[in-house]
Amino acid sequence: MIQPALDLVIATLEKIRETNDQAPRASRKALAQLQSVYSVAASPGEARVSPNERQLQQTISDKTRVLASIGERVCGCTKCAHLVSSRTQTVFGVGNPEAEIMFIGEAPGADEDRQGEPFVGRAGQLLTKIIKAMGFAREDVYIANILKCRPDMPPGSFGNRAPTPAEMQMCRPYLIEQIDIIQPKVLVALGAVAAEGLLGARGAMRELRGRWHSYNRTPLMITYHPAYLLRNQSPSEKRKVWEDMLQVLERLEKPISEKQRNYFL
Ligand code: SF4
Repeated sequence: MIQPALDLVIATLEKIRETNDQAPRASRKALAQLQSVYSVAASPGEARVSPNERQLQQTISDKTRVLASIGERVCGCTKCAHLVSSRTQTVFGVGNPEAEIMFIGEAPGADEDRQGEPFVGRAGQLLTKIIKAMGFAREDVYIANILKCRPDMPPGSFGNRAPTPAEMQMCRPYLIEQIDIIQPKVLVALGAVAAEGLLGARGAMRELRGRWHSYNRTPLMITYHPAYLLRNQSPSEKRKVWEDMLQVLERLEKPISEKQRNYFL
């Protein structure tokens, strides 16, 4: 049963490659899973998985397990009574436990509070577009917020508010655990509030962005929050974010095409 299914997957991938100008992409986790199935299919009854693949699978499953246990603690967290009573659910984080890049925002908004996943509203869709333009799928990276609960709003008011420094200080230990487990090669803080949550000090975005910082020896790039780009549609601001992302790609030693170099969000 496995071989016909694999033949179908390969035929479909080849068709996508022929009919698109971009090669099909798959996350590292998906590739590892496909390879393990292929090993079984190539030698029925004898799973031939290379030591490296086995090590990668083991690491992914260990990290997934530890992240899930932190997620359970977050789910039951009652440290901020005012947020516990207003939240629909906690919003832990999403993505590849082996991600090279970790994007960090400030806090869930109304959409995220409803869906339980960070960056799923309009700003999230723009972030997903940025990630794709960088040559990644959303599942390749890891996305989390400093705060795991939506900041409460006064009754009858709409929109979202930024988390306070005290709220961020209370919740930050969970994010630090996530970073310690994932060990990304690069952190990207989205907006001045997220940067403050990470570094503990507020700064002006025009001074913070576009250059490398460090968080516990992990390179940190600070750039504008996608919500800022939705409010300010000026091409020059969008280009600034894209130039920050080009620096991230360079830091990761990823090949950058001419199209990417000239890209405007
Ligand atoms: S914001 Fe963080 S620390 Fe506060 S209740 Fe939610 S999970 Fe707990």
